[in-house]
Amino acid sequence: MSEILIRNADAVVTMDAARAEIARGDVLIRGGVVAEVGQGLTTSGEVIEARGCVVTPGLVNTHHHLYQTLTRAVPGGQDALLFGWLKTLYPIWSRFGPEEMRISALTGLAELALSGCTLTSDHLYLYPNGARLEDTIDAAREIGLRFHPTRGAMSIGESAGGLPPDSLVEDEAAILKDMERVVDAFHDPAEGAMVRVGLAPCSPFSVSRDLMREAAVLARDQGVMLHTHLAENDEDIAYSLAQFGCRPGQYAEDLGWTGDDVWHAHCVKLDVGEIDLFARSRTGVAHCPCSNCRLGSGIAPVRAMRDAGVRVGLGVDGSASNDAGNLVAEARQAMLLQRVARGADAMSAREALEIATLGGAQVLGRSDCGSLEPGKRADIAIWDMTGIEAAGSWDPVAALLLCGPTRVRDLFVEGRQVVSDGHLVTIDLSCVIETQNCLARRLMA
Ligand SMILES: [Zn+2]
Repeated sequence: MSEILIRNADAVVTMDAARAEIARGDVLIRGGVVAEVGQGLTTSGEVIEARGCVVTPGLVNTHHHLYQTLTRAVPGGQDALLFGWLKTLYPIWSRFGPEEMRISALTGLAELALSGCTLTSDHLYLYPNGARLEDTIDAAREIGLRFHPTRGAMSIGESAGGLPPDSLVEDEAAILKDMERVVDAFHDPAEGAMVRVGLAPCSPFSVSRDLMREAAVLARDQGVMLHTHLAENDEDIAYSLAQFGCRPGQYAEDLGWTGDDVWHAHCVKLDVGEIDLFARSRTGVAHCPCSNCRLGSGIAPVRAMRDAGVRVGLGVDGSASNDAGNLVAEARQAMLLQRVARGADAMSAREALEIATLGGAQVLGRSDCGSLEPGKRADIAIWDMTGIEAAGSWDPVAALLLCGPTRVRDLFVEGRQVVSDGHLVTIDLSCVIETQNCLARRLMA
């Protein structure tokens, strides 16, 4: 079996149980897994010199809407709150089709890979003009990232009191049927899986109570995870109180949407009781600090969640509300934002890095990912700390988030190289950018 040795890193951040960091560290990859981590390792296979670098587990992104890379910086949505922002973008998204889904996914996945991400989920909740979940799965296979797409859905259109236009919503029976189809076709429960599918009605304000409940039953029947948006901002809480007569946490619990097979995006407005509920039920959270800043939603109580034992991962969220999809920059933002709310000791660089790696893997149910230990999947990011950003830094691991870089030098997924010397080796990036811009211009016309 082929071997790759990453050798002589200034620091290997293992994220093992002791959170060990190894100076002058090596990582030996055999096949798709980490074979050994330590010092002075040898191989007869390929050697990657990592002097001047920090080696970390690949970063994990727990919330995205990849298709939105085609609607970045749209003028009408630049300064709007969540609901107004959605209403600006829905008509544009209704013109998407399979090609827009595939190319926008390639764009978002490329950006993630270059920022150190090896495993990402995606939340695709609209399927206009023949678009299907596999358009994004094809893109992930092409680029070589580990992928957890979720079959999202919206079923309550404007005419029924919902937010999205009727043209973007689907019939609930058809949604459930397609959820079953994509799980059967693409979900791989095995260790080391490259694709796992989840079920993800868009949000409590775009699907019915019945669909939420039935999706939960279906997910448990099929052994897949559940994902949605929850408690994102004040409007979201007001909607829940007015429409359902309860807070979002109660709504989720009543419909079977708590448990270690569930993760909710945002959770900016969880109160003390809801944080306790999430901790007790092992429900996961995808924290999306840049999106929360961009939409003025607030500061998620991540410090309180972590202290209570809630599992928290990181998400860049869709590129229409970030609008960047740089995951290591997102980790930095997570660290800074907790400090705005709770002071300079509220979150260290190392804790933010833990959330971005091990935390995300735990939220996505991947006990085989998120740390560099023998037997774990070989999902590895190598960060060059010899550039201008980190020049003069004393502590290379902390410097990764306090200073930079924001682009990875090398990236391995399942032991296969995806980024080499700062460049994607699996796709022609300039071609993707050109096609993406061409599609964006067509949407603007
Ligand atoms: Zn989102």
